[in-house]
Amino acid sequence: MLSGRSLERYATQEAKGFELYLSKVAEQKIRNHALAHMGEGKEVMGFLLGTVCRHQGREYTLVRDVATTDLDATAVSVRFDRSAFDKLFEELDSCDFKYVIVGWYHSHPSYTCFMSATDIQTQRTMFNQRYHSAIVIDPVNKEIEAFYLENDRVESRPFAVYWDEHQNPYYGRTVRARAVK
Ligand SMILES: [Zn+2]
Repeated sequence: MLSGRSLERYATQEAKGFELYLSKVAEQKIRNHALAHMGEGKEVMGFLLGTVCRHQGREYTLVRDVATTDLDATAVSVRFDRSAFDKLFEELDSCDFKYVIVGWYHSHPSYTCFMSATDIQTQRTMFNQRYHSAIVIDPVNKEIEAFYLENDRVESRPFAVYWDEHQNPYYGRTVRARAVK
């Protein structure tokens, strides 16, 4: 449920278009991943796989799926387990579309969505393209927010979730008409 302030922001943003679109599948995977480790109070993380698009001079990014592997995590830190990279590459290989890594997600179990100094450092060194986003999810407070760096300053990036490929603003070959009875 969006607050009055968020609804207002959403309406303004919807009018001019979003910079980031998240598929329902990706959103669900991120949420389930965070929820699965919420009980032990551990952070989770993964890559955002998607497409960078341009339409009428505007650039936007689609997150169509995510990839992750075994993690080395505590309540306040997380990284890929060093012995689990094979599994990560397998997961990336099994992705059925030509993807670009458009950012990363990680969770802050109970301590709200923001970019910590470590998160900013990660963003700066590994995700320094304009289309790179950092999605932070707090499964306890039920918050999710996307961020990016603009001249080294953390900015919030409004995003929309789309429900199926038919709504996908990327008019690729996977878009097909709904079956009509
Ligand atoms: Zn963080």
